[in-house]
Amino acid sequence: MNVNFVYRYGDNLYVNLTNKCCNDCSFCIRRNGDGIGDSGDLWLSREPDAQEVINGIKSHGDYREIVFCGYGEPTYKTDVMVEVAEFVHSCGKKTRLNTNGLGNLINRRDIVPLLKGRIDTVSVSLNSDSAEGYDKMCHSVFGLAAYDELLKFTRECVLAGITTVMTVVAVEGVDVEKCRKAAESVGAKLKVREYIA
Ligand code: SF4
Repeated sequence: MNVNFVYRYGDNLYVNLTNKCCNDCSFCIRRNGDGIGDSGDLWLSREPDAQEVINGIKSHGDYREIVFCGYGEPTYKTDVMVEVAEFVHSCGKKTRLNTNGLGNLINRRDIVPLLKGRIDTVSVSLNSDSAEGYDKMCHSVFGLAAYDELLKFTRECVLAGITTVMTVVAVEGVDVEKCRKAAESVGAKLKVREYIA
């Protein structure tokens, strides 16, 4: 049974809440193996509750920040993430969410008010400069609607006062400057990431 809910990557601890995802991105690290760095196998036998994640965090040594980013989209488990984030803040540490920005569609409600005050930084994967390009690369179950939705989600996070960045993976066919404009149009800065093979 694999219950690898918390793993270390660099100075940070990463929280692996679920393997569910509404996308199937062509560059997803899940296509290339079972983990990243020394994470071990990130394919879970089951999803954790908040206390199990908190116990996992406590079992590791010191860390700089907690990052909700596993082998799946963390906002499928928003309630667990919120509870864990409150614990992390009670320890005086910071939280970050790495997301595809589709959490409002996934949860069929506006989750940004839940993130406010609990998630210090939201990092949204932009991936493309157009809805068509995004669909081609990310194959979301939400189809062409996904791109506008993730931009809307990002703007909401910015307006809520959460530090919000968008990311793009520098792969062939991606127009980084157009992506930068798209990110800036919703008030976020763009960060260019390298492809992890
Ligand atoms: S959104 Fe993230 S976890 Fe989901 S398929 Fe794309 S890269 Fe993988």
